[in-house]
Amino acid sequence: MKNLLTGGIIFNNIKQAQTEFANLGILTRTNFPSNEFSLYCGGGLLELVVCPTSVNQLIQIVNIIKKNSLDYLVIGACGNTLIKDTGFSGVTIMTQYLKGISHRNNTLYAGAGDKLNILSKKAMSCGLSGFEPLTGIPASVGGACVMNAGAFGTEMSQLIKDITYIDFFDSRLKKTFAGNLPFKYRHTNGFFDDKIITSVSFKLTSDDTSKIKARCISALETRKLTQPSKPSLGCVFKKAKGISAGYYIEKAGLKGFRIGGAQISQMHANFIVNTGNGNASNYIRLVEISENQVLEKFNIKLEREIIVKG
Ligand SMILES: Cc1cc2nc3c(=O)[nH]c(=O)nc-3n(C[C@H](O)[C@H](O)[C@H](O)COP(=O)(O)OP(=O)(O)OC[C@H]3O[C@@H](n4cnc5c(N)ncnc54)[C@H](O)[C@@H]3O)c2cc1C
Repeated sequence: MKNLLTGGIIFNNIKQAQTEFANLGILTRTNFPSNEFSLYCGGGLLELVVCPTSVNQLIQIVNIIKKNSLDYLVIGACGNTLIKDTGFSGVTIMTQYLKGISHRNNTLYAGAGDKLNILSKKAMSCGLSGFEPLTGIPASVGGACVMNAGAFGTEMSQLIKDITYIDFFDSRLKKTFAGNLPFKYRHTNGFFDDKIITSVSFKLTSDDTSKIKARCISALETRKLTQPSKPSLGCVFKKAKGISAGYYIEKAGLKGFRIGGAQISQMHANFIVNTGNGNASNYIRLVEISENQVLEKFNIKLEREIIVKG
Protein backbone atom coordinates (compact mmCIF):
# COMPACT_ATOMS: atom_id res chain seq x y z
CA MET A 1 0.00 0.00 0.00
CA LYS A 2 1.27 3.48 -0.81
CA ASN A 3 2.19 5.53 2.20
CA LEU A 4 0.00 8.56 2.80
CA LEU A 5 0.22 11.59 5.00
CA THR A 6 -2.75 11.11 7.24
CA GLY A 7 -2.80 13.56 10.08
CA GLY A 8 0.10 12.13 12.04
CA ILE A 9 -0.57 8.44 11.47
CA ILE A 10 2.22 6.73 9.57
CA PHE A 11 1.54 3.48 7.74
CA ASN A 12 3.37 0.48 6.38
CA ASN A 13 6.50 1.07 4.30
CA ILE A 14 7.28 4.45 5.79
CA LYS A 15 6.92 3.08 9.31
CA GLN A 16 9.21 0.20 8.39
CA ALA A 17 11.77 2.63 6.96
CA GLN A 18 11.56 4.79 10.08
CA THR A 19 12.37 1.77 12.25
CA GLU A 20 15.30 0.85 10.00
CA PHE A 21 16.68 4.41 10.14
CA ALA A 22 16.36 4.45 13.93
CA ASN A 23 18.15 1.08 14.23
CA LEU A 24 21.10 2.60 12.37
CA GLY A 25 21.12 5.67 14.61
CA ILE A 26 20.04 7.99 11.78
CA LEU A 27 18.34 11.21 12.87
CA THR A 28 14.66 11.31 11.86
CA ARG A 29 11.65 13.52 12.41
CA THR A 30 8.05 12.86 11.46
CA ASN A 31 5.46 15.34 10.18
CA PHE A 32 7.99 18.11 10.14
CA PRO A 33 6.40 21.48 9.15
CA SER A 34 8.36 22.78 6.14
CA ASN A 35 7.38 26.37 7.00
CA GLU A 36 9.82 26.15 9.92
CA PHE A 37 12.82 26.13 7.58
CA SER A 38 11.58 27.10 4.09
CA LEU A 39 13.00 30.50 3.14
CA TYR A 40 9.46 31.46 2.12
CA CYS A 41 8.30 30.42 5.63
CA GLY A 42 5.33 28.55 4.16
CA GLY A 43 4.49 25.01 3.11
CA GLY A 44 3.09 21.72 4.37
CA LEU A 45 4.29 18.78 6.43
CA LEU A 46 7.11 16.44 5.50
CA GLU A 47 6.05 12.92 6.44
CA LEU A 48 9.48 11.59 7.39
CA VAL A 49 12.68 13.65 7.46
CA VAL A 50 16.15 12.12 7.69
CA CYS A 51 19.34 14.06 8.37
CA PRO A 52 22.41 12.02 7.40
CA THR A 53 25.63 13.02 9.13
CA SER A 54 27.94 11.06 6.81
CA VAL A 55 28.14 9.69 3.30
CA ASN A 56 27.89 6.16 4.73
CA GLN A 57 24.61 7.04 6.42
CA LEU A 58 23.37 8.54 3.18
CA ILE A 59 24.10 5.30 1.33
CA GLN A 60 22.18 3.37 4.01
CA ILE A 61 19.27 5.81 3.64
CA VAL A 62 19.23 5.36 -0.14
CA ASN A 63 19.16 1.57 0.28
CA ILE A 64 16.29 1.72 2.79
CA ILE A 65 14.28 4.04 0.52
CA LYS A 66 14.78 1.69 -2.44
CA LYS A 67 14.00 -1.45 -0.41
CA ASN A 68 10.71 0.05 0.82
CA SER A 69 9.82 1.61 -2.58
CA LEU A 70 9.36 5.07 -1.07
CA ASP A 71 9.17 8.45 -2.74
CA TYR A 72 11.96 10.80 -1.69
CA LEU A 73 12.98 14.41 -1.88
CA VAL A 74 16.30 16.13 -1.22
CA ILE A 75 16.33 19.51 0.52
CA GLY A 76 19.30 21.85 0.96
CA ALA A 77 18.48 25.32 2.27
CA CYS A 78 14.92 25.19 0.86
CA GLY A 79 15.59 28.50 -0.87
CA ASN A 80 14.02 27.44 -4.14
CA THR A 81 11.61 24.69 -3.14
CA LEU A 82 7.99 25.00 -2.04
CA ILE A 83 6.18 22.10 -0.35
CA LYS A 84 2.46 22.14 -1.11
CA ASP A 85 0.16 22.67 1.87
CA THR A 86 -0.97 19.05 1.52
CA GLY A 87 2.58 18.00 2.43
CA PHE A 88 5.08 15.53 0.99
CA SER A 89 4.53 11.79 1.52
CA GLY A 90 7.77 9.84 1.60
CA VAL A 91 11.28 10.47 2.87
CA THR A 92 12.83 13.94 2.80
CA ILE A 93 16.63 13.88 2.96
CA MET A 94 18.03 17.05 4.48
CA THR A 95 21.69 17.67 3.71
CA GLN A 96 22.45 20.19 6.45
CA TYR A 97 24.94 17.94 8.28
CA LEU A 98 26.91 16.91 5.17
CA LYS A 99 29.52 19.56 5.78
CA GLY A 100 33.24 20.08 5.44
CA ILE A 101 35.01 23.10 4.01
CA SER A 102 38.73 22.96 3.30
CA HIS A 103 41.18 24.24 0.71
CA ARG A 104 44.39 23.28 -1.00
CA ASN A 105 46.16 25.73 -3.25
CA ASN A 106 43.44 27.27 -5.44
CA THR A 107 40.92 24.51 -4.87
CA LEU A 108 38.14 24.88 -2.32
CA TYR A 109 36.23 21.81 -1.09
CA ALA A 110 32.74 21.84 0.47
CA GLY A 111 30.07 19.43 1.63
CA ALA A 112 26.65 19.53 -0.04
CA GLY A 113 25.12 20.91 3.16
CA ASP A 114 27.56 23.79 3.58
CA LYS A 115 26.01 27.20 3.07
CA LEU A 116 27.14 29.12 -0.01
CA ASN A 117 27.69 32.27 2.06
CA ILE A 118 30.01 30.48 4.50
CA LEU A 119 31.92 29.12 1.52
CA SER A 120 32.19 32.59 0.01
CA LYS A 121 33.58 33.93 3.32
CA LYS A 122 36.09 31.09 3.51
CA ALA A 123 37.22 31.77 -0.06
CA MET A 124 37.69 35.43 0.83
CA SER A 125 39.76 34.62 3.94
CA CYS A 126 41.97 32.31 1.86
CA GLY A 127 42.50 34.97 -0.81
CA LEU A 128 40.53 32.94 -3.36
CA SER A 129 38.40 34.80 -5.88
CA GLY A 130 35.33 33.56 -7.79
CA PHE A 131 32.40 33.54 -5.40
CA GLU A 132 32.07 37.31 -4.97
CA PRO A 133 29.08 37.82 -7.36
CA LEU A 134 27.26 34.89 -5.73
CA THR A 135 27.66 36.28 -2.22
CA GLY A 136 24.25 36.67 -0.63
CA ILE A 137 22.48 33.86 -2.52
CA PRO A 138 20.81 31.88 0.26
CA ALA A 139 21.65 28.30 -0.71
CA SER A 140 23.32 25.07 0.25
CA VAL A 141 26.25 24.07 -1.93
CA GLY A 142 24.31 21.04 -3.27
CA GLY A 143 21.18 23.05 -4.10
CA ALA A 144 23.23 25.80 -5.75
CA CYS A 145 24.95 23.21 -7.99
CA VAL A 146 21.67 21.53 -8.98
CA MET A 147 20.10 24.92 -9.78
CA ASN A 148 23.31 26.27 -11.34
CA ALA A 149 22.65 29.34 -9.20
CA GLY A 150 24.04 32.59 -10.49
CA ALA A 151 24.13 36.35 -10.17
CA PHE A 152 25.72 39.32 -11.91
CA GLY A 153 26.90 37.22 -14.84
CA THR A 154 28.56 34.44 -12.82
CA GLU A 155 27.14 30.91 -12.46
CA MET A 156 28.13 28.01 -10.24
CA SER A 157 29.14 26.03 -13.36
CA GLN A 158 32.04 28.47 -13.96
CA LEU A 159 33.53 27.70 -10.53
CA ILE A 160 32.91 23.97 -10.10
CA LYS A 161 35.80 21.57 -10.67
CA ASP A 162 34.02 18.31 -9.88
CA ILE A 163 30.97 16.99 -8.05
CA THR A 164 30.74 13.82 -5.94
CA TYR A 165 27.32 12.21 -5.58
CA ILE A 166 25.49 9.04 -4.72
CA ASP A 167 23.71 7.49 -7.65
CA PHE A 168 20.30 6.11 -6.66
CA PHE A 169 20.56 3.53 -9.42
CA ASP A 170 23.37 1.51 -7.82
CA SER A 171 23.85 3.33 -4.46
CA ARG A 172 27.46 4.05 -5.39
CA LEU A 173 29.55 7.14 -4.76
CA LYS A 174 30.71 8.69 -8.04
CA LYS A 175 32.69 11.76 -9.08
CA THR A 176 32.14 13.71 -12.30
CA PHE A 177 34.11 16.63 -13.69
CA ALA A 178 32.13 19.81 -14.31
CA GLY A 179 32.79 19.58 -18.05
CA ASN A 180 30.72 16.39 -18.20
CA LEU A 181 27.69 17.92 -16.47
CA PRO A 182 24.70 19.43 -18.34
CA PHE A 183 24.72 22.90 -16.75
CA LYS A 184 22.04 25.19 -18.15
CA TYR A 185 20.50 28.51 -17.11
CA ARG A 186 19.24 27.81 -13.55
CA HIS A 187 19.05 24.04 -13.99
CA THR A 188 21.08 20.92 -14.74
CA ASN A 189 18.65 19.22 -17.11
CA GLY A 190 17.41 16.73 -14.51
CA PHE A 191 20.87 15.13 -14.18
CA PHE A 192 20.63 15.11 -10.37
CA ASP A 193 17.02 13.90 -10.21
CA ASP A 194 18.19 10.41 -9.21
CA LYS A 195 21.42 11.47 -7.52
CA ILE A 196 22.40 13.13 -4.24
CA ILE A 197 25.37 15.46 -4.21
CA THR A 198 27.64 14.84 -1.24
CA SER A 199 30.55 17.19 -1.90
CA VAL A 200 31.91 19.61 -4.47
CA SER A 201 35.32 21.06 -5.33
CA PHE A 202 35.80 24.51 -6.84
CA LYS A 203 38.64 25.97 -8.89
CA LEU A 204 39.28 29.59 -7.90
CA THR A 205 41.93 32.21 -8.59
CA SER A 206 44.22 34.01 -6.16
CA ASP A 207 43.63 37.66 -5.36
CA ASP A 208 44.01 40.16 -2.52
CA THR A 209 41.61 39.51 0.34
CA SER A 210 40.77 43.23 0.53
CA LYS A 211 39.77 43.34 -3.16
CA ILE A 212 37.68 40.17 -2.79
CA LYS A 213 36.00 41.65 0.29
CA ALA A 214 35.14 44.88 -1.56
CA ARG A 215 33.50 42.89 -4.38
CA CYS A 216 31.51 40.77 -1.89
CA ILE A 217 30.25 43.91 -0.13
CA SER A 218 29.29 45.47 -3.48
CA ALA A 219 27.29 42.35 -4.46
CA LEU A 220 25.53 42.34 -1.08
CA GLU A 221 24.68 46.03 -1.31
CA THR A 222 23.23 45.71 -4.83
CA ARG A 223 21.19 42.74 -3.64
CA LYS A 224 19.88 44.76 -0.69
CA LEU A 225 18.83 47.61 -2.96
CA THR A 226 17.08 45.45 -5.57
CA GLN A 227 15.56 42.51 -3.69
CA PRO A 228 12.85 42.39 -1.03
CA SER A 229 13.89 41.43 2.48
CA LYS A 230 10.65 39.61 3.36
CA PRO A 231 10.70 35.76 3.18
CA SER A 232 10.65 34.49 -0.42
CA LEU A 233 12.09 31.85 -2.73
CA GLY A 234 14.01 34.36 -4.81
CA CYS A 235 13.02 34.79 -8.46
CA VAL A 236 9.88 32.84 -9.25
CA PHE A 237 10.45 32.67 -13.03
CA LYS A 238 13.44 32.50 -15.34
CA LYS A 239 14.22 35.40 -17.65
CA ALA A 240 11.97 35.50 -20.71
CA LYS A 241 13.38 36.76 -24.01
CA GLY A 242 16.45 37.96 -22.08
CA ILE A 243 14.39 40.18 -19.76
CA SER A 244 13.51 39.62 -16.11
CA ALA A 245 10.08 38.03 -15.80
CA GLY A 246 9.40 40.78 -13.25
CA TYR A 247 9.18 43.28 -16.12
CA TYR A 248 6.24 41.45 -17.70
CA ILE A 249 4.55 40.77 -14.35
CA GLU A 250 4.81 44.45 -13.44
CA LYS A 251 3.53 45.53 -16.89
CA ALA A 252 0.61 43.15 -16.40
CA GLY A 253 -0.32 45.29 -13.39
CA LEU A 254 0.36 42.63 -10.80
CA LYS A 255 3.00 44.37 -8.66
CA GLY A 256 1.75 44.36 -5.08
CA PHE A 257 -1.10 41.96 -5.89
CA ARG A 258 -1.85 39.79 -2.89
CA ILE A 259 -3.58 36.54 -2.09
CA GLY A 260 -3.87 35.69 1.58
CA GLY A 261 -0.49 36.36 3.15
CA ALA A 262 1.46 36.08 -0.13
CA GLN A 263 2.20 39.13 -2.24
CA ILE A 264 3.90 39.91 -5.55
CA SER A 265 6.66 42.12 -4.22
CA GLN A 266 6.28 45.89 -4.54
CA MET A 267 10.04 46.10 -4.94
CA HIS A 268 10.64 43.36 -7.55
CA ALA A 269 7.68 41.74 -9.30
CA ASN A 270 9.54 38.45 -9.88
CA PHE A 271 9.53 37.81 -6.12
CA ILE A 272 6.54 36.52 -4.18
CA VAL A 273 6.96 37.43 -0.54
CA ASN A 274 5.35 36.16 2.62
CA THR A 275 3.86 39.11 4.45
CA GLY A 276 3.21 37.09 7.61
CA ASN A 277 0.87 34.17 7.23
CA GLY A 278 1.28 33.22 3.56
CA ASN A 279 0.87 29.54 2.80
CA ALA A 280 1.95 27.48 -0.19
CA SER A 281 -1.49 27.66 -1.84
CA ASN A 282 -1.41 31.48 -1.74
CA TYR A 283 2.02 31.40 -3.37
CA ILE A 284 1.04 28.89 -6.08
CA ARG A 285 -2.12 30.85 -6.93
CA LEU A 286 -0.02 34.01 -7.47
CA VAL A 287 2.36 32.01 -9.68
CA GLU A 288 -0.57 30.77 -11.79
CA ILE A 289 -2.12 34.25 -12.07
CA SER A 290 1.25 35.68 -13.18
CA GLU A 291 1.61 32.92 -15.77
CA ASN A 292 -1.90 33.45 -17.13
CA GLN A 293 -1.72 37.26 -17.24
CA VAL A 294 1.72 37.37 -18.93
CA LEU A 295 0.59 34.77 -21.48
CA GLU A 296 -2.61 36.70 -22.20
CA LYS A 297 -1.00 40.15 -22.41
CA PHE A 298 2.39 39.36 -24.02
CA ASN A 299 1.93 35.86 -25.46
CA ILE A 300 4.92 34.78 -23.35
CA LYS A 301 4.90 31.45 -21.51
CA LEU A 302 6.88 32.06 -18.33
CA GLU A 303 9.13 29.24 -17.17
CA ARG A 304 9.27 28.56 -13.44
CA GLU A 305 12.57 28.74 -11.58
CA ILE A 306 11.05 27.60 -8.29
CA ILE A 307 10.34 23.92 -7.65
CA VAL A 308 7.00 22.79 -6.20
CA LYS A 309 6.87 19.40 -4.46
CA GLY A 310 4.14 17.41 -2.76
C1 LIG B 1 16.14 36.00 -1.13
C2 LIG B 1 16.56 35.02 -2.17
C3 LIG B 1 17.45 35.44 -3.16
C4 LIG B 1 17.86 34.54 -4.16
N1 LIG B 1 18.74 34.97 -5.10
C5 LIG B 1 19.16 34.11 -6.06
C6 LIG B 1 20.12 34.53 -7.04
O1 LIG B 1 20.59 35.65 -7.07
N2 LIG B 1 20.49 33.62 -7.97
C7 LIG B 1 20.01 32.34 -7.99
O2 LIG B 1 20.42 31.55 -8.86
N3 LIG B 1 19.11 31.92 -7.06
C8 LIG B 1 18.68 32.77 -6.10
N4 LIG B 1 17.78 32.35 -5.16
C9 LIG B 1 17.19 31.01 -5.24
C10 LIG B 1 17.95 29.94 -4.43
O3 LIG B 1 18.76 30.53 -3.46
C11 LIG B 1 18.82 29.11 -5.38
O4 LIG B 1 18.03 28.44 -6.33
C12 LIG B 1 19.63 28.07 -4.63
O5 LIG B 1 20.49 27.42 -5.53
C13 LIG B 1 18.77 27.04 -3.92
O6 LIG B 1 19.61 26.28 -3.09
P1 LIG B 1 18.95 25.42 -1.89
O7 LIG B 1 20.02 24.73 -1.17
O8 LIG B 1 18.06 26.29 -1.11
O9 LIG B 1 18.11 24.39 -2.76
P2 LIG B 1 16.72 23.67 -2.41
O10 LIG B 1 15.60 24.63 -2.63
O11 LIG B 1 16.80 23.02 -1.09
O12 LIG B 1 16.74 22.60 -3.57
C14 LIG B 1 16.73 23.01 -4.92
C15 LIG B 1 16.78 21.75 -5.82
O13 LIG B 1 18.02 21.08 -5.62
C16 LIG B 1 17.80 19.75 -5.14
N5 LIG B 1 18.90 19.48 -4.20
C17 LIG B 1 19.26 20.22 -3.13
N6 LIG B 1 20.35 19.69 -2.56
C18 LIG B 1 20.68 18.60 -3.29
C19 LIG B 1 21.73 17.63 -3.19
N7 LIG B 1 22.65 17.66 -2.23
N8 LIG B 1 21.76 16.64 -4.12
C20 LIG B 1 20.83 16.57 -5.11
N9 LIG B 1 19.81 17.45 -5.23
C21 LIG B 1 19.75 18.45 -4.33
C22 LIG B 1 16.43 19.76 -4.51
O14 LIG B 1 15.84 18.48 -4.52
C23 LIG B 1 15.70 20.72 -5.45
O15 LIG B 1 15.32 20.06 -6.64
C24 LIG B 1 17.37 33.21 -4.15
C25 LIG B 1 16.50 32.79 -3.13
C26 LIG B 1 16.11 33.68 -2.15
C27 LIG B 1 15.20 33.19 -1.06
